[in-house]
Amino acid sequence: MKYTIATIHGDGIGPDVVREAVRALKAVAHCSGFELDFVEAPMGGAAYDAFGCPLPDSSLATCRGSDAILLGAVGGPRWDKLPGDLRPEAGLLGLRAGMGTYANLRPARIFPELASACPLKPEIVRGGLDLLIVRELTGGIYFGERGRSPDGGTAWDTERYTKAEIERLLEVAYRAARARSKKLCVVDKANVLESSRLWRQTAQELAAHYPDVETSFMYVDNCAMQLVRNPRQFDVIATSNMFGDILSDEASMITGSIGMLPSASVGSSGPGIFEPIHGSAPDLAGKDQANPLAAILSAAMLLAYGLKRKAEAAAIERAVSSVLAAGYRCADIATGAEGEIVLGTRAMGETVARAIEEAAQGTPRSAADAGR
Ligand code: NAD
Repeated sequence: MKYTIATIHGDGIGPDVVREAVRALKAVAHCSGFELDFVEAPMGGAAYDAFGCPLPDSSLATCRGSDAILLGAVGGPRWDKLPGDLRPEAGLLGLRAGMGTYANLRPARIFPELASACPLKPEIVRGGLDLLIVRELTGGIYFGERGRSPDGGTAWDTERYTKAEIERLLEVAYRAARARSKKLCVVDKANVLESSRLWRQTAQELAAHYPDVETSFMYVDNCAMQLVRNPRQFDVIATSNMFGDILSDEASMITGSIGMLPSASVGSSGPGIFEPIHGSAPDLAGKDQANPLAAILSAAMLLAYGLKRKAEAAAIERAVSSVLAAGYRCADIATGAEGEIVLGTRAMGETVARAIEEAAQGTPRSAADAGR
């Protein structure tokens, strides 16, 4: 079996972390006996420098012709003064629109070894945290009609959803819930907003098709509270574009580290986009200090959701856990505790790749060997 992966290295630390995610993918493919063909698709500031636009048609074509897209991050101060349509971020929006990726999946997971990075009281997250926010990505208030009155004193943005848009997002969320602990919480503001009432009605109708999944509903303001009061009550949360934008950032901060969090953006068909949630971190570019684990865990999501290779995705996740358990940290997740060994970007990627290979060979992992 052979898959084509479009790689978008992007800007800043993007190339560094993608290189390590590719290393992990190659390791797992080697161990599992399938082939990966990596094809570069320039995007962002790097594409602007080379081609004069942030998303060349040829890159979009490469992405469309792939089985999955692995993305680092784009942007940086060098390109901040460009007109909006030439900025690196315009490439990202163009890619999402061009690929029809309307569902954004953002896990928020606390690795037991990193529990001390969580800003919540230890008793609140005792036993770990592993939730998934499924956010609608291409509709709602960010895309609705907006305007200003002629005198500039009134402004409006419109939250607008069709039933079809809600349904297709919820289908993704239900499938994800089915593959996890079979609990889905639909978050809305149905006590006030008509669009939210359509979300709730659509979810109630769809729930009949997923009798094995327990569906619950929560208002967004309550959900924002519950995420810090008792986040372990959630497994999968499905919500609209703006609510998801806010809640997923809140959830990611509970885990304490932006360098650990992956994401996936998927549509009904065609390749999905798999990327760390962090940006291009210009302050770390070229210093070998970026944490590649968010990108490596995005590679795991690529395997699970993009290539439907769940066993191989789990192999990457287990390798990351074992490396953390052996005390290896990048600077952003290091606490100075005894036994920690701080690695740079490349060494962390190599350590994870080695852990994947050792696990496949059944070699017990040695902490002393792991970081070499
Ligand atoms: P950022 O995520 O790049 O950085 C925020 C902070 O987190 C910085 O201190 C950075 O050093 C740190 N950080 C980020 N990733 C890290 C990693 N892997 N390991 C260790 N530390 C890490 O956000 P920002 O500073 O607001 O944005 C920088 C640039 O990235 C901007 O141009 C922005 O537009 C762009 N951006 C791109 C994306 C994307 O490509 N999807 C997302 C967000 C921001």
